[in-house]
Amino acid sequence: MKGEKPVKIPADAAFLLEKLNQKGHEAYVVGGCVRDALLGRTPQDWDLCTSALPEETAAIFSDHKLVLDGLVHGTVGVVRNGVLYEITTFRTESGYADARHPDEVRFVRRIEEDLARRDFTVNAMAYHPEKGLVDCFGGKNDLQKGILRCVGDPDTRFHEDALRILRAIRFAAVYGLSVEEETARAALRLCPQLSRISAERIGAELTRFLCGADAPRMIADFWPILSVILPEIGEENWNAVSERMKATEPRLILRLAVLLYPAKEDAQRLLWRLRVAKNTAQQVLSLLQRQDPALPEKAALRLILGQLGEDLTRLRLQLDKALTGDETSFLRQTELLDEILRNGDCCSLSQLAVSGTDLQKLGFWGPQIGQVLQTLLLAVVREEAKNEKTVLLSLAERER
Ligand code: ATP
Ligand code: MG
Repeated sequence: MKGEKPVKIPADAAFLLEKLNQKGHEAYVVGGCVRDALLGRTPQDWDLCTSALPEETAAIFSDHKLVLDGLVHGTVGVVRNGVLYEITTFRTESGYADARHPDEVRFVRRIEEDLARRDFTVNAMAYHPEKGLVDCFGGKNDLQKGILRCVGDPDTRFHEDALRILRAIRFAAVYGLSVEEETARAALRLCPQLSRISAERIGAELTRFLCGADAPRMIADFWPILSVILPEIGEENWNAVSERMKATEPRLILRLAVLLYPAKEDAQRLLWRLRVAKNTAQQVLSLLQRQDPALPEKAALRLILGQLGEDLTRLRLQLDKALTGDETSFLRQTELLDEILRNGDCCSLSQLAVSGTDLQKLGFWGPQIGQVLQTLLLAVVREEAKNEKTVLLSLAERER
């Protein structure tokens, strides 16, 4: 972090703080938004914490739309100008029998106690517009030095909630931090406990991890953590996964494809197990599908383009480059693709100069129609036939 940026609290969040303060409560913005603001990044959302009890918060904002499903954990959601703000009462947590959910949430009076329950020093800062930064664990200093460190004893913290192990490498990957030594050692030692964490929480962290600019470096150093979640990848493959990922832009589908490639036969099941969104999973699978190797390069490219569309086809070329390391082939294929697009070549059945109806008129019927259309498309993409109706109809005649 080069020079600390001022924390500029947006008007609506500032209004909520002000209201709580007016009623005699302490209130701060806290956690991820403070971290992001100090880094000069735009926070996704502004979370608040307060000494007010949940019922008191709810009463103060009774003229707003409230979301109350987090009430037992101390969280009141307040909707202001269409945006949801979570306001959570200062609290501690204790007893994590299932390594996941705190058995007990206890409300406390002091912000310091609330910050102490948070996972990493960079996530354990609060900010007040007049009082400034509350930073009991050296979060600002760690951020400046680029260090990710647990609040308190890493062993204890990872025992309490094993998901923090995955969060550690997620934050390190996204913010380019290096994991402090004790924290790193504890993460590697305790990572088998990740098997007790629900698939939803793991999937959510993993996808954010993969989109981090530094995910490849983290995989090289911390692959045993990922191995607990994805034993199917095989220990011997992680180095290659890391190397390949370096060659890809941080797009989720591309990175999932690189990650799952060593277990591609299992990819569908793994994507489901990680609760990856259906649409995303389908795109990953289509990237992993291989074409008939006997097809000439340009013909194969036309078919891929016809099936995947331009965006996914470009990602597919990136994936191939990552898998083979062949930059020359990548550049050549990119040029070919540009040429195909420029010329508007026929790449799919919908672009073919004859349709199923045309074939019906020739007397074809049923499943035969689809087969003949495929044959015609193959002839066209291989440049064995022009995409012209008379040409294709006479070709079809020969298929009878
Ligand atoms: P982002 O929303 O950008 O992913 P964030 O820091 O806001 O980052 P959240 O998961 O939204 O992350 O959590 C908000 C805050 O709650 C964190 O900054 C951290 O202080 C605390 N927190 C979240 N999850 C945990 C956890 N498993 N253990 C301890 N503290 C946590
Ligand atoms: Mg957040």
